[in-house]
Amino acid sequence: METGRPIVAIVGRPNVGKSSLFNRIAGNSHAVVHDTPGVTRDRNYADVEWEDRSFTIVDTGGLDIDPGDQLIDNVQSQVNAALAEASLVLFVVDARTGIMPHDMAVVDKLRASDKPIFLVVNKVDNDRFRNEAAEFYALGLAEPLWTSCVQNDGIRELLDRVVETLPETDETAHDAPATVKIAIVGRPNVGKSSLINSLLGEERLIVDERPGTTRDAVNIRIVHDNIPFEVVDTAGMRRKSAINDELESATVQRAIHSIRQSDIAVLVLDATQDVAQQDKAIAHFIQRQGKASVLVINKWDLIDKDNTTHPTFMHAIDAQLPQLGYVPRVFASALSGQRVTQILTTALEVYREYCTHIPTPALNELLTELRNAHPPPRVKSARPALKYITQVETKPPTFLIFGRNVHRVQQPYESYLVNSIRKEFGFHGTPIRIFYRRS
Ligand code: GDP
Ligand code: GDP
Repeated sequence: METGRPIVAIVGRPNVGKSSLFNRIAGNSHAVVHDTPGVTRDRNYADVEWEDRSFTIVDTGGLDIDPGDQLIDNVQSQVNAALAEASLVLFVVDARTGIMPHDMAVVDKLRASDKPIFLVVNKVDNDRFRNEAAEFYALGLAEPLWTSCVQNDGIRELLDRVVETLPETDETAHDAPATVKIAIVGRPNVGKSSLINSLLGEERLIVDERPGTTRDAVNIRIVHDNIPFEVVDTAGMRRKSAINDELESATVQRAIHSIRQSDIAVLVLDATQDVAQQDKAIAHFIQRQGKASVLVINKWDLIDKDNTTHPTFMHAIDAQLPQLGYVPRVFASALSGQRVTQILTTALEVYREYCTHIPTPALNELLTELRNAHPPPRVKSARPALKYITQVETKPPTFLIFGRNVHRVQQPYESYLVNSIRKEFGFHGTPIRIFYRRS
């Protein structure tokens, strides 16, 4: 799913016609319907274009709804997640049954939200049902919209109302990729300025070189494969003597400053030196700031290689920078130019992962599997129950899990979740955050 498209979520108890509505919306608008990866049911989300606007419609139904009391819990979790994720919510009720207790369970939540909520009264196959409409007005939501998915009635009107109401989005985010901002950081003498000079030599399409936000910072713009990159805070790098005798703490300070301004941190190591405390400090900061990263092992030309060299280096880095296990590594030489442009290619791949949004149904499919394979362990006689997951942010990818006793989820279990999310969806080079909310 592209980021930047507003999300419209369909919620409601089972059997009111959510998936029928989804299919009608997709069908009437000639939407591009995506099969969610790893999900056996197809048709979970669709990119809809209507009246020059585009949005993504998500059918949040199809949860494993447990019988009995669990139902209310699950519908509520589903609604919480929809409210967190979506720009607009379609709350579907059934004209034939009228308001049911399971509907009421979510109405308060919907009323309290500041998101636009549309009350969709479905199964209005003839006008007889409209006459019984008073009870729907009594819900205190906006005026009901009437649909019949069977007759294909009211769907186009619904779409008109949706696009009128959706917040404006940054359409440019789709057309042109945003500039990818990169910080090149590392200890003095690892070869940062040599790498930049090498990049500038390789790439002919230099756009400009302009003052950055701070007095002495200089940002360099490079276009590689038609993607604009901005290398932030390169002051001192191209005049290398200036920073070679920097104090240790000044190195870290400078790194922190440029990491803050960027999307991707390229942490440069010197292949001939051990990983130092400063490298660890910078790595730690990259992660804390939620930035994506690429590790460059520079001066690769100075290493005598045989077929054990590469794995030996990989293991050594894993051991010394364990927190960056998910970060891709580029073995490069600024001197020979070997794999220097690969740094930008890898940075771009990482940037895309950093911006990825995983649709809710696919996440919940995974959560169900994980929960079944390994339920969270009991803590102090209470077992956390993870009910529903949704991705609430990108840059960095951030997930929200709803459930009972979720504050008791422990670090090892969270690592299991994070590792499983990576295994399923990638997210190379980007940190992943998980937050919890009781529901
Ligand atoms: P969901 O569980 O909320 O996703 O509901 P479904 O879309 O699976 O629909 C549940 C049942 O209601 C199915 O048998 C549908 O054929 C039926 N249904 C859906 N929309 C309408 C409608 O507008 N009118 C009538 N009469 N039946 C409908
Ligand atoms: P910075 O302080 O991180 O900007 O490092 P510099 O780019 O100034 O490089 C420090 C020293 O390492 C200089 O003498 C460079 O010529 C040398 N150097 C940088 N990259 C490489 C490389 O890939 N291979 C070799 N052999 N030397 C390098």
